[in-house]
Parts: sequence; structure tokens; C-alpha cells
Amino acid sequence: MKLTPLKCPHCGAKLKIAGNTVLAACQYCGNAAEFTGESAIKLDQAIIKSEGPPNILLPFWRISYKAKISSLAAHAPQNPFQQDGTEAFYRRKDVKPEDLEIPSRMLVAAFRVNNFINYTADLSQALSLKLDRDLPEKDADKSMDYGRCYYGHLDAQGMVEVLLRVLANKKSRDILDLDFDIKWRERKILWWPFKQDGDCWRDMIYEQRLLQSALEK
Ligand SMILES: [Zn+2]
Repeated sequence: MKLTPLKCPHCGAKLKIAGNTVLAACQYCGNAAEFTGESAIKLDQAIIKSEGPPNILLPFWRISYKAKISSLAAHAPQNPFQQDGTEAFYRRKDVKPEDLEIPSRMLVAAFRVNNFINYTADLSQALSLKLDRDLPEKDADKSMDYGRCYYGHLDAQGMVEVLLRVLANKKSRDILDLDFDIKWRERKILWWPFKQDGDCWRDMIYEQRLLQSALEK
């Protein structure tokens, strides 16, 4: 295992961090940081309060941003029976950028699951769409399980761009090709409470499920 010498962005202590570590707590002051290549970034984080104790807390990035659609093309879905050689796709002019509501923040999983896109795209989308009310937060304690943190904020930003396209396409009968101009704002790790529910983890705020066997340590 390759160890990279890095300084804790909170207390300045020299840390030994494994080469593939994304999020970790300082061995000395206990504060969390995101480690990307040769830099360490202070991490703002909180636990979401829930009724009763959770069975597991899973880390999510809550990413805020301002997104503008920089290009948009709409195509009618291809008719599988079209055999006469005419163009299967054609442009429609009735979808405008202002017709598409773009959320201004999203939750993206920072934990590792097998088949990441399948499992966490659905979960992130479902949680994000409900994220309009304020969440009851408290400070994250220093015994958080950073072994579960796997994806950094740049991965999360990439996922936000994917999810924005998916969400726009869900609202449209056409197939939309979109490009976004995104200004990234606050990012924070939220430790989200889950309860055991059969072979799933069920989130204790919005009741979304994640298959337990999908979770990778
Ligand atoms: Zn420190």
C-alpha cells in the first residue's frame, strides 16, 4: 500500500494516508478531510437526526450548484417499426430550457456499492427530489465509519451531471440531449440514517430502500 505524507487541513499534523483514501479523519484531532491526490480539503459534515437509533449511517454528498442549460436538442423516440429508410430521429422545437425545472442541490452516495449507477442513481434521485425541506442536522461525531466513504466530491459532481440529464428526460416524452453550464457551490457530507428492513436498508427520513447485499465495504 502506498502511503502519501499529507498535512491535516484542520490541525496541521502530518498524516499517513493510504493512496486510495478519499475521506478520512485525522489521527490527531479527529476532524474529517477529503484527500485527493496531493491535497487535503477540510470537510464539512453532519448527521441527519432521525426518530430512534439507526442501524447504519451511510455517507452522502449534498452538493449545491447553479446549473444553466447551455444546449438542448429534443428528438422524438425512435419507432422500432420504421423500416422505410426515413430519418428515425427528428428535431422538435417545442422543448425549451425554461420548461425544465432544474433542482439546485442533490444528494449523491459517497459509499461504495456494487453496480454503483444502478443502485445509487435511483436512490440519489429519489432522495434529491424530496430535498426541499430543511433537514434536522447535528454535528458528526469523530467515530464515523470512514471506511464506508469511497467517492470524492468530483465523482459526486459527475454524478450530479448524469442525474440532471436523467431527471430532464423523465419529464419529457422526447429524448433530450443536454449540456449544462454548472457553477458548483457548497458541498457537505451528510451521514444518512438507515434501518434494517428485511434484506434492505430503508432510509429513516424518506423511506427509500437499498439492497443490503449491494453495499461494499
Ligand atoms: Zn488534524
